[in-house]
Amino acid sequence: MKSEVFYLPWEKISQYDEWLDGVGIEKIVSKKELVALKIHFGEKGNKGFIKPSFVAPLAKRIKEQGAFPFLTDANTIYVGDRADAYHHALVAEEHGFNIRACGCPVIIADGLRGNAGHDVQIGLKHFKKVSIANSVHYSDSILLMSHFKGHEITGFGGLIKNAGMGCGTRAGKYAMHHSVLPKVSPEKCTGCGVCVKWCPAGALELSGRRIKMDKSKCVGCGECTLSCKFGVFDILWDEAVSSVQEKIVEYAYGVLKGKKHFGINFLNHITQYCDCYPTKGAPLVRDIGVMAASDPVALDQAGADKVNEVYGSDFWKKIFPHIDWNVQLEYAQKLGLGTRQYRITEF
Ligand code: SF4
Ligand code: SF4
Repeated sequence: MKSEVFYLPWEKISQYDEWLDGVGIEKIVSKKELVALKIHFGEKGNKGFIKPSFVAPLAKRIKEQGAFPFLTDANTIYVGDRADAYHHALVAEEHGFNIRACGCPVIIADGLRGNAGHDVQIGLKHFKKVSIANSVHYSDSILLMSHFKGHEITGFGGLIKNAGMGCGTRAGKYAMHHSVLPKVSPEKCTGCGVCVKWCPAGALELSGRRIKMDKSKCVGCGECTLSCKFGVFDILWDEAVSSVQEKIVEYAYGVLKGKKHFGINFLNHITQYCDCYPTKGAPLVRDIGVMAASDPVALDQAGADKVNEVYGSDFWKKIFPHIDWNVQLEYAQKLGLGTRQYRITEF
């Protein structure tokens, strides 16, 4: 059976509020419940994140039903401006996410230092249990607002990525990344030191002008492959990305297990890299629209297909040729999170 995916073309974005009336968000909201609006506030300097003006109508609707919405995201493992709750909240405020603009408070999901989580038993292939950020786990329902764009491990990032990687605690994020241990070619190193600053695990140090990696400390986050411009780090992508994608799906499974959930994907400002980067170039596809669905797999599938349709070929393969972006969708369907079959209801 096909799942329904609601679609608002970008040309009609001024009717966003009206469109929301018919997409069925109210089904996951009950009186006096705490509703998590999971979003990515954008790394400092990033321009692609979902804007606060899209949050306000949702918070208003939820409050009208007598429930209590709050905006949330978990801390990062890389050394940026969202690695602890204090700085994360400051970035959210700087990007306009506050009570005045959004109509609900910001609560960083996994506490001051990213270790406030709850173990959810899932008994799956990669994980028996997953460590989910507290404020997400203890919410009564979750509305995932996801900015659709490319991602260096999953090919594209949509709801599944937002739920899985985005709601894991620091320990959870490390566990998901763990298959990505890079191969190092120290002879290419210029000694610039950039990767040392980005490595969240202290696994890299310079010895003279040559980089040295301590494999026992490396958590496989892949940050060094992105921060080094000289090709020193290489990842065995075929093996690594499939495994990480499946792990992310298992985390998404743990987040959504037994919880009322709904998703809204924003297909605009579509860049090659995700909103964890301050600046990563101009959008590569025109702004397309917004999609909403209660089925997370159908929602991400519809988004990926729509981008490819507008681009004219497989956009995700073009930006990351070594990644099979279907893996996350296939595995999510296999776990029963939803179906890849959908029908579009256009506004
Ligand atoms: S060495 Fe690279 S992959 Fe390993 S923890 Fe450091 S940045 Fe991450
Ligand atoms: S970023 Fe690359 S070139 Fe610079 S120190 Fe690290 S490995 Fe060497």
